[in-house]
Amino acid sequence: MTSISTLNADLHCHSVVSDGTLTPEALAERAKANGVNLWALTDHDELGGQERARDAASALKIDYLSGVEISVTWMGQTIHIVGLGIDAKHTGIIEGLRRTREGRGNRAQLMAEQLQKVGISGAYEGALHYAGNHDLISRTHFARFLVEQGVCKDTEQVFKNYLVEDKPGYVPHQWASLDDAVAWIKAAGGVAVIAHPGRYKFTAMQMDELYKHFKDIGGLGIEVITGSHSPDQYKTFGKIAQQYGFLASRGSDFHDPAESHIDLGVLPHLPDHLTPIWSAFH
Ligand code: AMP
Ligand code: MN
Ligand code: MN
Ligand code: MN
Repeated sequence: MTSISTLNADLHCHSVVSDGTLTPEALAERAKANGVNLWALTDHDELGGQERARDAASALKIDYLSGVEISVTWMGQTIHIVGLGIDAKHTGIIEGLRRTREGRGNRAQLMAEQLQKVGISGAYEGALHYAGNHDLISRTHFARFLVEQGVCKDTEQVFKNYLVEDKPGYVPHQWASLDDAVAWIKAAGGVAVIAHPGRYKFTAMQMDELYKHFKDIGGLGIEVITGSHSPDQYKTFGKIAQQYGFLASRGSDFHDPAESHIDLGVLPHLPDHLTPIWSAFH
Protein backbone atom coordinates (compact mmCIF):
# COMPACT_ATOMS: atom_id res chain seq x y z
CA MET A 1 0.00 0.00 0.00
CA THR A 2 1.16 3.53 -0.79
CA SER A 3 2.35 5.33 2.33
CA ILE A 4 0.72 8.63 3.11
CA SER A 5 3.59 10.91 2.05
CA THR A 6 4.46 9.00 -1.12
CA LEU A 7 0.89 9.05 -2.42
CA ASN A 8 0.98 10.74 -5.82
CA ALA A 9 -1.35 13.59 -4.94
CA ASP A 10 -1.78 16.54 -7.31
CA LEU A 11 -4.09 19.04 -5.66
CA HIS A 12 -3.77 22.10 -7.92
CA CYS A 13 -4.49 22.42 -11.64
CA HIS A 14 -6.72 24.27 -14.13
CA SER A 15 -9.12 23.29 -16.90
CA VAL A 16 -10.89 25.17 -19.72
CA VAL A 17 -13.45 26.16 -17.07
CA SER A 18 -10.86 28.75 -15.92
CA ASP A 19 -7.50 29.39 -17.60
CA GLY A 20 -6.30 25.89 -18.45
CA THR A 21 -6.48 24.51 -21.99
CA LEU A 22 -7.59 20.92 -21.31
CA THR A 23 -11.09 19.73 -20.42
CA PRO A 24 -11.67 18.20 -16.98
CA GLU A 25 -11.88 14.79 -18.71
CA ALA A 26 -8.56 15.24 -20.55
CA LEU A 27 -6.91 16.33 -17.28
CA ALA A 28 -8.22 13.22 -15.55
CA GLU A 29 -6.74 11.05 -18.35
CA ARG A 30 -3.43 12.86 -18.06
CA ALA A 31 -3.39 12.54 -14.27
CA LYS A 32 -4.05 8.79 -14.65
CA ALA A 33 -1.31 8.39 -17.26
CA ASN A 34 1.14 10.18 -14.93
CA GLY A 35 0.29 7.93 -11.97
CA VAL A 36 -1.71 10.43 -9.91
CA ASN A 37 -3.85 8.62 -7.33
CA LEU A 38 -5.36 11.60 -5.51
CA TRP A 39 -6.41 14.53 -7.64
CA ALA A 40 -8.17 17.91 -7.33
CA LEU A 41 -9.16 20.28 -10.13
CA THR A 42 -8.83 23.80 -8.70
CA ASP A 43 -10.15 26.23 -11.30
CA HIS A 44 -9.91 29.94 -10.46
CA ASP A 45 -13.07 31.28 -8.73
CA GLU A 46 -15.27 28.66 -10.39
CA LEU A 47 -16.81 25.28 -9.53
CA GLY A 48 -18.32 24.58 -12.97
CA GLY A 49 -15.87 21.75 -13.76
CA GLN A 50 -16.19 19.84 -10.50
CA GLU A 51 -18.85 17.32 -11.44
CA ARG A 52 -17.10 16.46 -14.71
CA ALA A 53 -13.73 16.09 -12.96
CA ARG A 54 -15.17 13.90 -10.20
CA ASP A 55 -17.00 11.66 -12.68
CA ALA A 56 -13.92 11.32 -14.90
CA ALA A 57 -11.69 10.53 -11.88
CA SER A 58 -14.16 7.96 -10.64
CA ALA A 59 -14.29 6.21 -14.05
CA LEU A 60 -10.46 6.03 -13.98
CA LYS A 61 -10.35 4.93 -10.32
CA ILE A 62 -8.48 8.02 -9.10
CA ASP A 63 -9.46 9.40 -5.67
CA TYR A 64 -10.84 12.90 -6.05
CA LEU A 65 -11.23 15.99 -3.83
CA SER A 66 -13.40 18.88 -5.05
CA GLY A 67 -11.28 22.00 -5.35
CA VAL A 68 -11.13 25.69 -6.15
CA GLU A 69 -8.48 28.44 -6.20
CA ILE A 70 -9.94 31.69 -4.88
CA SER A 71 -8.53 35.12 -5.86
CA VAL A 72 -8.07 37.20 -2.71
CA THR A 73 -6.85 40.73 -2.05
CA TRP A 74 -4.81 40.95 1.14
CA MET A 75 -2.76 43.97 2.20
CA GLY A 76 -3.11 45.44 -1.27
CA GLN A 77 -1.78 42.39 -3.12
CA THR A 78 -3.42 39.43 -4.84
CA ILE A 79 -2.97 36.08 -3.16
CA HIS A 80 -4.59 32.73 -3.96
CA ILE A 81 -6.34 30.44 -1.50
CA VAL A 82 -7.04 26.85 -2.51
CA GLY A 83 -10.09 25.12 -1.05
CA LEU A 84 -10.06 21.31 -1.00
CA GLY A 85 -12.74 18.77 -0.14
CA ILE A 86 -15.54 21.31 -0.43
CA ASP A 87 -19.13 20.48 -1.26
CA ALA A 88 -19.23 21.90 -4.80
CA LYS A 89 -23.01 22.34 -4.54
CA HIS A 90 -22.86 24.51 -1.41
CA THR A 91 -24.79 27.72 -2.14
CA GLY A 92 -22.61 29.93 0.10
CA ILE A 93 -19.39 29.30 -1.81
CA ILE A 94 -21.17 29.30 -5.19
CA GLU A 95 -22.57 32.76 -4.48
CA GLY A 96 -19.27 34.04 -3.05
CA LEU A 97 -17.39 32.89 -6.15
CA ARG A 98 -20.01 34.41 -8.45
CA ARG A 99 -19.38 37.78 -6.79
CA THR A 100 -15.61 37.27 -6.98
CA ARG A 101 -15.84 36.65 -10.76
CA GLU A 102 -18.16 39.57 -11.36
CA GLY A 103 -15.62 42.33 -12.10
CA ARG A 104 -13.56 40.28 -14.59
CA GLY A 105 -15.39 41.42 -17.74
CA ASN A 106 -14.98 45.11 -16.94
CA ARG A 107 -11.35 44.60 -15.91
CA ALA A 108 -10.69 42.85 -19.23
CA GLN A 109 -12.15 45.82 -21.15
CA LEU A 110 -9.85 48.18 -19.23
CA MET A 111 -6.86 45.93 -19.90
CA ALA A 112 -7.66 45.99 -23.62
CA GLU A 113 -7.95 49.82 -23.57
CA GLN A 114 -4.48 50.06 -22.07
CA LEU A 115 -3.03 47.66 -24.61
CA GLN A 116 -4.68 49.68 -27.37
CA LYS A 117 -2.71 52.72 -26.15
CA VAL A 118 0.57 50.89 -26.80
CA GLY A 119 -0.61 49.88 -30.27
CA ILE A 120 -2.08 46.43 -29.58
CA SER A 121 -5.65 46.33 -30.88
CA GLY A 122 -8.39 43.75 -30.56
CA ALA A 123 -7.07 42.36 -27.26
CA TYR A 124 -10.48 42.00 -25.60
CA GLU A 125 -11.94 39.93 -28.43
CA GLY A 126 -8.62 38.15 -28.88
CA ALA A 127 -8.46 37.13 -25.22
CA LEU A 128 -12.14 36.18 -25.14
CA HIS A 129 -11.48 33.77 -27.99
CA TYR A 130 -9.15 31.82 -25.67
CA ALA A 131 -11.55 31.86 -22.72
CA GLY A 132 -13.44 28.56 -22.49
CA ASN A 133 -15.67 30.23 -19.90
CA HIS A 134 -16.53 33.84 -20.74
CA ASP A 135 -17.28 34.56 -17.06
CA LEU A 136 -13.68 33.82 -16.30
CA ILE A 137 -11.66 35.93 -18.69
CA SER A 138 -8.19 36.18 -17.11
CA ARG A 139 -4.72 37.56 -17.73
CA THR A 140 -3.72 34.11 -18.99
CA HIS A 141 -6.13 34.50 -21.93
CA PHE A 142 -4.63 37.92 -22.73
CA ALA A 143 -1.17 36.36 -22.48
CA ARG A 144 -2.09 33.70 -25.06
CA PHE A 145 -3.42 36.40 -27.39
CA LEU A 146 -0.19 38.44 -27.05
CA VAL A 147 1.87 35.35 -27.92
CA GLU A 148 -0.41 34.59 -30.89
CA GLN A 149 0.11 38.18 -32.12
CA GLY A 150 3.89 37.81 -31.87
CA VAL A 151 4.11 40.56 -29.23
CA CYS A 152 5.96 38.13 -26.93
CA LYS A 153 7.56 34.76 -27.62
CA ASP A 154 5.84 32.98 -24.71
CA THR A 155 3.51 33.63 -21.80
CA GLU A 156 6.46 33.92 -19.41
CA GLN A 157 7.69 36.94 -21.38
CA VAL A 158 4.18 38.40 -21.31
CA PHE A 159 4.12 38.30 -17.49
CA LYS A 160 7.48 40.13 -17.45
CA ASN A 161 6.57 42.92 -19.87
CA TYR A 162 2.78 43.21 -19.86
CA LEU A 163 -0.23 42.73 -17.56
CA VAL A 164 1.81 43.18 -14.35
CA GLU A 165 2.26 46.25 -12.16
CA ASP A 166 3.85 49.23 -13.96
CA LYS A 167 3.51 47.53 -17.38
CA PRO A 168 0.89 48.00 -20.12
CA GLY A 169 -2.33 46.09 -19.55
CA TYR A 170 -2.14 46.05 -15.75
CA VAL A 171 -5.42 46.91 -14.06
CA PRO A 172 -5.52 46.69 -10.26
CA HIS A 173 -8.45 44.67 -9.01
CA GLN A 174 -10.21 44.08 -5.70
CA TRP A 175 -10.83 40.34 -5.23
CA ALA A 176 -12.47 38.54 -2.28
CA SER A 177 -11.29 39.19 1.28
CA LEU A 178 -9.17 36.53 2.94
CA ASP A 179 -11.71 36.14 5.74
CA ASP A 180 -14.58 35.62 3.28
CA ALA A 181 -12.66 33.11 1.14
CA VAL A 182 -11.69 30.98 4.15
CA ALA A 183 -15.22 31.24 5.59
CA TRP A 184 -16.78 30.05 2.28
CA ILE A 185 -14.41 27.08 2.12
CA LYS A 186 -15.06 26.09 5.73
CA ALA A 187 -18.83 26.49 5.43
CA ALA A 188 -18.71 24.19 2.39
CA GLY A 189 -16.93 21.56 4.51
CA GLY A 190 -13.48 22.04 2.97
CA VAL A 191 -9.98 22.93 4.11
CA ALA A 192 -8.22 26.17 3.14
CA VAL A 193 -4.65 26.18 1.84
CA ILE A 194 -2.37 29.14 0.98
CA ALA A 195 -1.37 28.63 -2.66
CA HIS A 196 2.25 29.10 -3.82
CA PRO A 197 3.42 31.31 -0.90
CA GLY A 198 6.78 31.75 -2.65
CA ARG A 199 5.17 33.98 -5.27
CA TYR A 200 4.06 36.78 -2.96
CA LYS A 201 6.03 40.00 -2.71
CA PHE A 202 5.37 40.68 0.96
CA THR A 203 7.96 41.49 3.60
CA ALA A 204 8.85 38.77 6.13
CA MET A 205 6.70 40.58 8.69
CA GLN A 206 3.71 40.67 6.37
CA MET A 207 4.14 36.96 5.57
CA ASP A 208 4.23 36.24 9.32
CA GLU A 209 1.03 38.22 9.73
CA LEU A 210 -0.55 36.35 6.81
CA TYR A 211 0.28 32.94 8.32
CA LYS A 212 -0.93 33.94 11.79
CA HIS A 213 -4.14 35.54 10.58
CA PHE A 214 -4.87 32.66 8.20
CA LYS A 215 -4.41 30.22 11.09
CA ASP A 216 -6.59 32.33 13.42
CA ILE A 217 -9.49 32.20 10.97
CA GLY A 218 -9.18 28.44 10.53
CA GLY A 219 -6.81 28.05 7.57
CA LEU A 220 -5.12 24.64 7.71
CA GLY A 221 -2.51 24.28 5.00
CA ILE A 222 0.12 25.75 2.71
CA GLU A 223 1.50 24.55 -0.58
CA VAL A 224 5.08 23.38 -0.15
CA ILE A 225 5.69 21.37 -3.32
CA THR A 226 4.20 23.35 -6.20
CA GLY A 227 5.12 24.04 -9.81
CA SER A 228 5.59 27.68 -8.73
CA HIS A 229 8.40 26.91 -6.23
CA SER A 230 12.10 26.28 -6.75
CA PRO A 231 13.80 23.42 -4.85
CA ASP A 232 15.10 26.04 -2.37
CA GLN A 233 11.55 27.20 -1.81
CA TYR A 234 10.43 23.58 -1.13
CA LYS A 235 12.79 23.75 1.87
CA THR A 236 11.82 27.27 2.94
CA PHE A 237 8.09 26.57 2.93
CA GLY A 238 8.54 23.11 4.44
CA LYS A 239 10.09 24.90 7.43
CA ILE A 240 7.24 27.43 7.47
CA ALA A 241 4.71 24.56 7.54
CA GLN A 242 6.46 23.08 10.59
CA GLN A 243 6.96 26.41 12.32
CA TYR A 244 3.32 27.50 12.03
CA GLY A 245 1.78 24.03 12.28
CA PHE A 246 0.33 23.91 8.76
CA LEU A 247 -0.49 20.78 6.81
CA ALA A 248 1.56 20.61 3.60
CA SER A 249 0.08 20.45 0.11
CA ARG A 250 1.45 19.34 -3.24
CA GLY A 251 0.18 20.44 -6.65
CA SER A 252 1.58 21.15 -10.10
CA ASP A 253 -0.57 24.22 -10.95
CA PHE A 254 -0.72 22.66 -14.42
CA HIS A 255 -2.49 24.80 -17.07
CA ASP A 256 -1.35 23.58 -20.48
CA PRO A 257 1.06 20.97 -21.92
CA ALA A 258 3.21 23.58 -23.72
CA GLU A 259 3.02 26.45 -21.21
CA SER A 260 3.42 24.62 -17.91
CA HIS A 261 6.91 23.56 -16.80
CA ILE A 262 5.59 20.91 -14.43
CA ASP A 263 3.20 18.22 -15.61
CA LEU A 264 0.44 16.71 -13.49
CA GLY A 265 1.80 14.39 -10.81
CA VAL A 266 5.52 14.66 -11.64
CA LEU A 267 6.62 16.84 -8.71
CA PRO A 268 8.89 15.64 -5.90
CA HIS A 269 7.06 13.96 -3.01
CA LEU A 270 6.40 15.90 0.17
CA PRO A 271 9.26 15.54 2.66
CA ASP A 272 8.54 12.77 5.20
CA HIS A 273 8.59 15.02 8.24
CA LEU A 274 5.65 17.13 7.01
CA THR A 275 2.01 16.20 7.58
CA PRO A 276 0.20 16.07 4.22
CA ILE A 277 -2.99 18.05 3.74
CA TRP A 278 -4.74 14.82 2.69
CA SER A 279 -4.35 13.51 6.24
CA ALA A 280 -7.26 15.89 6.99
CA PHE A 281 -9.46 13.61 4.86
CA HIS A 282 -8.57 10.20 6.35
P1 AMP B 1 -5.91 36.72 -13.21
O1 AMP B 1 -6.66 35.89 -12.21
O2 AMP B 1 -6.75 37.15 -14.36
O3 AMP B 1 -5.18 37.87 -12.57
O4 AMP B 1 -4.81 35.78 -13.87
C1 AMP B 1 -3.89 35.11 -13.05
C2 AMP B 1 -3.27 33.96 -13.84
O5 AMP B 1 -2.24 34.45 -14.66
C3 AMP B 1 -2.58 32.98 -12.91
O6 AMP B 1 -3.49 32.04 -12.41
C4 AMP B 1 -1.59 32.33 -13.83
O7 AMP B 1 -2.21 31.31 -14.58
C5 AMP B 1 -1.22 33.47 -14.76
N1 AMP B 1 0.04 34.09 -14.33
C6 AMP B 1 0.22 35.08 -13.45
N2 AMP B 1 1.52 35.40 -13.32
C7 AMP B 1 2.18 34.55 -14.14
C8 AMP B 1 3.56 34.36 -14.48
N3 AMP B 1 4.52 35.10 -13.94
N4 AMP B 1 3.85 33.40 -15.38
C9 AMP B 1 2.89 32.65 -15.94
N5 AMP B 1 1.59 32.79 -15.67
C10 AMP B 1 1.24 33.72 -14.79
MN1 MN C 1 -4.04 30.40 -13.69
MN1 MN D 1 -2.42 30.79 -8.34
MN1 MN E 1 -3.37 27.91 -9.99
